[in-house]
Amino acid sequence: MKILITGGAGFIGSHLAEAYLQRGDEVYIIDDLSTGSLDNIKALQQNPQFKNRLFLTVNTILEHHNLLELTGICDVVFHLAAAVGVRYILENPLESIRTNIQGTEKVLEMCAKFKKRVLIASTSEVYGKHTHAPLVETDNIIYGPSSKFRWSYAASKLMDEFTALAYFRTRGLQVIITRLFNTVGPRQTGAYGMVIPRFVSQALRDRPLTVYGDGRQTRTFTYVKDVVEALMRLMECDGAVGEVFNVGGTEETTILELAQRVIALTGSASAVELIPYEKAFGKDFEDMQRRVPSIAKIRALIGFAPRVDFDGMLRKVIAHMRNGS
Ligand code: UDP
Repeated sequence: MKILITGGAGFIGSHLAEAYLQRGDEVYIIDDLSTGSLDNIKALQQNPQFKNRLFLTVNTILEHHNLLELTGICDVVFHLAAAVGVRYILENPLESIRTNIQGTEKVLEMCAKFKKRVLIASTSEVYGKHTHAPLVETDNIIYGPSSKFRWSYAASKLMDEFTALAYFRTRGLQVIITRLFNTVGPRQTGAYGMVIPRFVSQALRDRPLTVYGDGRQTRTFTYVKDVVEALMRLMECDGAVGEVFNVGGTEETTILELAQRVIALTGSASAVELIPYEKAFGKDFEDMQRRVPSIAKIRALIGFAPRVDFDGMLRKVIAHMRNGS
């Protein structure tokens, strides 16, 4: 099969590309390298087994011609190109909204033109400020005011979901929507705010681990290879078309527990430093206090169950970062 991955040089996209290349497929990547990086796919490009099966186009998905040609060539499309990371979104609000809304609309338009099945990577952010758990795909959503720019990301991804579902309903486009819950693993960078690579990097340098707020906010982390397997299986499942799925782990963890676990697993001399949100992000910031998925829907459809547990994923990230990558 020919697989198009927008954002294929990103953290999740590069793992997805690798999985398809290992399966023997041809992979076409389009990436503007804004938050993605050539380093993420260097090993794939240099692997003789993947020779002549990996094709990279460095361009934005907002540019018409490349996207038109690539969508025409490929059998299915994974749309992962998006502005990612809380810090990145706060620092680049306009560009993030444009990439997420206009970029996704372009991808959907092309997929509709060529009748190609498309999987959209959405996010657990779309649920907003809930404190109950677990979050079910049909739950209401709760956002803060538009002065708090964090929610622009949630709102823009929600618009992506609406647009995709509208293409499904009105144009018969085969869309699958996945809400990813804090995906982690090797090659994820802490540069855009992601907590695990930041904590591991701090711990390996014996620097204080910067826990924002009181550290009692929770997340449910998911190992990237579990996410990739879920995306591939959903893409092959006719029952997934027109549906929204949570893709996430099962172990809810406070950020303080995470920091302590990273210190224990690295054997670091680091301490934990609590940093007020205002100091970390300015006054117009609100965090999500709790984020736990229900994975009943995806489990029922494709038997999804994460294989790598919390300690397992931390160990893999630590090993990767210790090797200097
Ligand atoms: N966080 C933290 N210290 C950091 C980076 C993040 O305490 O150096 C917190 C952040 O405030 C949030 C959680 O870790 O409560 C997860 O943050 P991340 O940016 O990884 O993901 P998201 O907020 O999108 O879930």
